[in-house]
Amino acid sequence: MKRISLRDKILLWFTAALLIVVGFTYFMLLSVSSRILQKTVRDNLTEAVEYNYNEIRFYSRMEDVDFGKDASIYIEFASGYLEVSEDFLDEINQVYTGLYSADGNLLYGENPISSGTDGLAFFDSQVQTLIADGEKYYVMDRRLGTQGLEGIWLRGIVSVSQGTSQMTNITRMSLVLLPVLVLISVVGGSLIVRRMLRPIQQISDTAKQIGQENDLKKRIELGKGRDELHQLADTFNEMFDKLEKSFETQRQFISDASHELRTPMSVITAQCEYILESPRSREEYEEAFRLVQRQSRKMSKLIGDMLDFTRLEVGTERYLPERLNLSELAEDICRDMSLIGENGITLEYVIQPSVEFTGNPGLLSRLLMNLISNAYRYGRQDGHIRVTLRKEGQEILLSVADDGIGIAPEDQEKIFRRFYQADRSRSGAGIGLGLSMAAEIARFHGGKITVDSMPGRGSTFTVIFPADAVPRREPPEDG
Ligand code: ADP
Repeated sequence: MKRISLRDKILLWFTAALLIVVGFTYFMLLSVSSRILQKTVRDNLTEAVEYNYNEIRFYSRMEDVDFGKDASIYIEFASGYLEVSEDFLDEINQVYTGLYSADGNLLYGENPISSGTDGLAFFDSQVQTLIADGEKYYVMDRRLGTQGLEGIWLRGIVSVSQGTSQMTNITRMSLVLLPVLVLISVVGGSLIVRRMLRPIQQISDTAKQIGQENDLKKRIELGKGRDELHQLADTFNEMFDKLEKSFETQRQFISDASHELRTPMSVITAQCEYILESPRSREEYEEAFRLVQRQSRKMSKLIGDMLDFTRLEVGTERYLPERLNLSELAEDICRDMSLIGENGITLEYVIQPSVEFTGNPGLLSRLLMNLISNAYRYGRQDGHIRVTLRKEGQEILLSVADDGIGIAPEDQEKIFRRFYQADRSRSGAGIGLGLSMAAEIARFHGGKITVDSMPGRGSTFTVIFPADAVPRREPPEDG
């Protein structure tokens, strides 16, 4: 089935609603105006009949007539004279009036109905409806009580079609006007809807282009505006920004990782080629294997670190938080790591007891171990490492300080980036992932990590956790 576009759906709905409204209006117009017109015709009838009723007089002698009055005419009638209004015989508002005897004979005046109204009984001051010769009439009677006219009826007759002809005009006019109105509204509505939906089309086109051309730099350009569609476009653009950043980070990560892997791979390949060139002594083979082993371990650590890092960053692994005694966890790690004793370095720790925290013990151990390993690696011969843990107000502060080589100010921000190494000569098995991992773990727990360092004097890394934070479970934001 053909898919109906949103624009057509809106238009269809709108047109249908409009037709219903117009149809209803048309119907109401007809019924109301028909009622009003019929009432007007009846009112005209009543008015004409009452007027003539009041104007009729009877005189038995002409001498009694008061000629000083308004225009009247005099007709010989019965044994005297009838005084009627000058326009008795003119149809006032198309009302025909006549004088009738009680048995229904027209004595004076007019009756528009050719077949007459003989069969219609007289009812004083009442409007009756009569259908004669295929037409509908209103009839109103008045019984005259004036002296000399007793028993005579004044009857007014008006054709209802007189009103209907006006109705037909209204009907014809509205039959033309209303469809024109609908047409104008539909065309206008269609233009407005098209204009309204244009931004949605733009949004969809841009999204399509990004999908087809893999161009994450494209943005939706709707120009200035504050309506919902502009907000939607802004939201999409923000999402594209994030996607672009995330793809760029991902690309950089892959490129850095392959670069890091290439070095040990080249060393292993070169070593194998060299050793296989000609027969070698047992010592040379041993030396070659040791080198291959070292490089393999380095690669294996790199792959492991990368996997951990990705799991944490992408959120594929569920690191469940639990309520733990951070003091005990830190103390255990410090006790174990103080045994390393590398380069004669001494590890001291000052840990406030019973600092409670909600977090993942595996990740928190990893964070502290990374910082202590670095402190050993970049510490000075016979130097000191000092680990402290304390709660201050609503914050938990965990710091690892050393008196080693320190970090140049320009490097202090960069060292948290993946694969960034300020001093490659000292890094040993390190590959530049330790600190970015530590920063990611701190962020995962709602905290952050800072460094305070002076080249040649040493560095202090401080992790600040909000005491009541609950680690997030969704994938972390790129940073
Ligand atoms: P690496 O595996 O190289 O140690 P990290 O991410 O742990 O990677 O550290 C990044 C860089 O930051 C290191 O290469 C080093 O130059 C610097 N760095 C880290 N910790 C210290 C420290 N305690 N003292 C001096 N420099 C450090």
